[in-house]
Amino acid sequence: MIRDRFARPLGSLRVSVTDRCNLRCRYCMPEAEYVWLPKSSLLTFEEIARLTGVFAGLGVTKVRLTGGEPLLRHELAALVSMLHAEPRLADLALTTNGVLLERFAAALKAAGLGRVTVSLDTLRPERMQEFARSGRHADVLAGIAAARGAGFERVKLNTVVVRGFNDDEIADLVAFGERHGAEVRFIEYMDVGGATRWSRDQVVSRAEILERLGAQFGPITAVPDRDHPAAPAERFRLASGTTFGIIASVTAPFCASCDRSRLTADGTWFLCLYAAKGIDLREPLRAGASDADLEALIRETWQGRADRGAEERLGVRERGVLYPIEALRADPRREMHTRGG
Ligand code: SAM
Ligand code: SF4
Ligand code: SF4
Repeated sequence: MIRDRFARPLGSLRVSVTDRCNLRCRYCMPEAEYVWLPKSSLLTFEEIARLTGVFAGLGVTKVRLTGGEPLLRHELAALVSMLHAEPRLADLALTTNGVLLERFAAALKAAGLGRVTVSLDTLRPERMQEFARSGRHADVLAGIAAARGAGFERVKLNTVVVRGFNDDEIADLVAFGERHGAEVRFIEYMDVGGATRWSRDQVVSRAEILERLGAQFGPITAVPDRDHPAAPAERFRLASGTTFGIIASVTAPFCASCDRSRLTADGTWFLCLYAAKGIDLREPLRAGASDADLEALIRETWQGRADRGAEERLGVRERGVLYPIEALRADPRREMHTRGG
């Protein structure tokens, strides 16, 4: 196991398999046009599996496939089986917007995918149309049902709460999760790259989410998660026994225990969601670096890591968008949809 300058281990890796997406969520991809990563720069499945193996040798046990929309990547199940064959990975998960999940859920399960998280911001199709410019709400619901039908037991639902958009659906989403055997995790709206419409007043804090759910459902108790101290979500239980999570990345960042890093689809490795620059792993990989060379590069980089982006943002007084649109266009790797969330 290797540790960074704050003694945080390198434990989990989010792997973005594409920067393309079939939705245009307003908190992530609000612009009319985007600069995409060149197709030739995308890592092949063999390259992703090789890098993941090197990371596993350094202590990574958890890998989450993400994007963009990961299910847009052709034959994703083939990558899942390659990663599933790596015995050091204890947890292989996927985050998807669910639009294409009905078609692929069974194949992903058969390939060895362990867990699925589906992003679901609203129960109202007309809101999805307005907020994500998509009429495929029914497909998302079908995707959630298909995931459960395929045997994924712990389906999670991610909901970014945005004031004035879906903050009146918090209780309905918990009830939906209860009915469908899925745990909802509410995420505070973050001022990450890509969120060019972000403003502080649209953030609904953990405290406010708890207050609203308490008013609707009665007493709420915290569920300590001693087995996963680096998990970003804090979990809570209603009197009915239903559990839900909150990821308070804006008001109560969890950088102190952050063991996550991110690999973009073109092989750029980011040590923090907010990091301005990443480390190019594709170039050495394609130039013939050995596993030992890659391991040394990753080890040395992680040992120098001092990132705590969300905590630093807490100290910014006039907090607005992280990057203006011109700065995002100049480097698409700053985008949330390139970093994988
Ligand atoms: N397209 C897939 C999806 O939406 O699930 C995977 C990629 S998406 C970038 C990963 C996660 O990031 C999603 O759950 C999404 O809700 C979250 N996300 C994107 N922009 C965000 C923002 N500004 N604040 C908080 N979460 C955000
Ligand atoms: Fe929405 Fe995910 Fe696509 Fe971003 S990458 S626009 S969060 S579906
Ligand atoms: Fe980890 Fe950076 Fe997010 Fe903090 S802001 S939790 S260091 S990725």
